[in-house]
Amino acid sequence: VTLGDELPEGTRFIGPEEGASPSWPLPDAPTAADLDLCVACGLCLPHCPTYRLTGEESASPRGRIAAMRAVADGTAQVDDTFASFMDLCLSCRACEDVCPSHVPFGRMMEHARVEIEPLRSAPARGLRRLGLDVALPRRWVLSTLHALTPIARPFLPRRIRSLVPRGRRGALVAERTDPPEGVELRGTVAMLTGCVQDQWFRGVNRATARVLARSGWRVLAPRAQTCCGALGAHYGHLDRARDLARANLTAFGAAEVVVVNAAGCGAHMKEYGALLGHEEGAVFGSRVRDLMEFLDEQGIRAPAANPGVGAVAYHDACHALRAQGIRAAPRRLLGAIPDLEIVELEHADRCCGAAGLYNVLEPQMSGELRSQKVDAVLASGARTVASANPGCTMQIVAGLRERGADVDVVHPVELLDRAYAAEDA
Ligand code: SF4
Ligand code: SF4
Repeated sequence: VTLGDELPEGTRFIGPEEGASPSWPLPDAPTAADLDLCVACGLCLPHCPTYRLTGEESASPRGRIAAMRAVADGTAQVDDTFASFMDLCLSCRACEDVCPSHVPFGRMMEHARVEIEPLRSAPARGLRRLGLDVALPRRWVLSTLHALTPIARPFLPRRIRSLVPRGRRGALVAERTDPPEGVELRGTVAMLTGCVQDQWFRGVNRATARVLARSGWRVLAPRAQTCCGALGAHYGHLDRARDLARANLTAFGAAEVVVVNAAGCGAHMKEYGALLGHEEGAVFGSRVRDLMEFLDEQGIRAPAANPGVGAVAYHDACHALRAQGIRAAPRRLLGAIPDLEIVELEHADRCCGAAGLYNVLEPQMSGELRSQKVDAVLASGARTVASANPGCTMQIVAGLRERGADVDVVHPVELLDRAYAAEDA
């Protein structure tokens, strides 16, 4: 007797009604297998930032999955209401992290966003296409935008202006960086330089190459690499994200390890297998390592000097903590710096509201989350925040600036790099 045979006639536990015809308008929809994993237990609800702030079921993971299921069952349509449920989601994956059924919520949301893309106005679609498909994958376009930033800054809407980083970017990270004299070569790694990271946080890339080299790694930064495609995937441009994934597979070739210093990019690249639906992508994904994860696994030589920082608040990016399970590694690495004290932020596991383009597209919800994060930083008393994701860094910097707070926000690898420089000096 199989389990199904024992159920009374007509009982439906999970899955669509027999004969139901999905109303997804496009083929790249959330799969029935993924949707069926949710047993509607609600354990994810208290962890969802948008549910916590609104108390609305439709702004919860379970509510969003119910909406997707209704479309899959053919009892609802992909319309503006459905789109508003999906748009308010941060894709922070806190729900996925705590879900006992291992519902791949991030992936389902990416597919749901493909379905709502045609509902957007023509100018909104055009802008997204320009940003996600044209600008991000092309270094020269981003470089031009970066060069124009000082001229354009006064004309940008206040909300966007506060997010755009200031300062000079300096030289591109070298295509090859070798360990300094006296450091034994341990192996070779490739490094993702990224799109936003490469233009607005290039110093982080240079610090990454220096710290890796100092730890005995030859670092290759292939020029043919491109944007990882995470933003495109989060905002309904999955086909473009697949193109970029394929380009990176070629660019990184047979690299045994691809080190990524931006949490959002690393989380996305580790899932190239599911995105591309083939073994080659899965093998590539298994070679991707978050920078903090890699340095912690392989070990570093503890710096002998402090870079001039005392208390440091570590900000957990959702796509490091939730999507990659990285929590202890960056704290252990920073803990190796003499006289550096790591202070824990209240509700450190809560999203800061950056979430890719969310802080531009959903300013109210994003602003509330940013405000909570800034409150936590200020309450901690730390004068430095370590953040390993460019989106979070921009968001926290903007929030601190708005409050007139004198707190430095840096990538943890910059603190290690400065510690080694202090040691040398
Ligand atoms: S997503 Fe997971 S935790 Fe949330 S209701 Fe569904 S099964 Fe439960
Ligand atoms: S991804 Fe984040 S915002 Fe979206 S439903 Fe899950 S917990 Fe809520």
